[in-house]
Amino acid sequence: MSSCLSWQLSQAFHEGNPTIPDGASNPMARIQRELEAIRLIELGARANLICQLTDVNKQVVSRLYRQLTGAPSAPGLTPFTDTWYIKNDRLMLHVSVVWRLFRQTADFGCSAAQQLIAVYQAYVSLVKTPLLNITRVHFVTRLVTTLSWEERGCPECRANYLAPVDRLARSCYGCTLYFDQRCRHCNATFPLHKKGRPRKRCLACGLVR
Ligand SMILES: [Zn+2]
Ligand SMILES: [Zn+2]
Repeated sequence: MSSCLSWQLSQAFHEGNPTIPDGASNPMARIQRELEAIRLIELGARANLICQLTDVNKQVVSRLYRQLTGAPSAPGLTPFTDTWYIKNDRLMLHVSVVWRLFRQTADFGCSAAQQLIAVYQAYVSLVKTPLLNITRVHFVTRLVTTLSWEERGCPECRANYLAPVDRLARSCYGCTLYFDQRCRHCNATFPLHKKGRPRKRCLACGLVR
């Protein structure tokens, strides 16, 4: 969307709305927040999350939402637990990618909305098939700040990754997925059973997993 069209949209949605949200004394700041709201809508964020991150009036966000997508936002936010993430190692691998992006952008001095936009755009451009939508990406930080997840160092690849505090596995999720297919000792590929699952014993060196 061009900045000109964004600005026109911003003006249009304030017509007839005398209740100007916080920051009205600085119209440029208000327009900036509304542009962030528009970008978040384009990236698939729900209205409640957008209000939370941008401080833009909910009525304004709802109007922007209908104008841009042709439909109202789905109500509420995703339930706040890590159940959905931890059911799949691949999802948790993506979580660690996202977490590193949050860490790398933490000192940029941008707003929470700007940081989420930057992280999500970088994430979808980095991975071939993104598994996390923008809401799931946002909740990664929440799960760290509520101490449900912690950052750890992987002894296999030396990378930092995120894991639930009660997870017992010693490797990161990337290495866990890798060593599901290959022997930790000799790096040979585990042959598959007829059912398609890797065998438990390495045929090259005899190591049992
Ligand atoms: Zn690792
Ligand atoms: Zn082996």
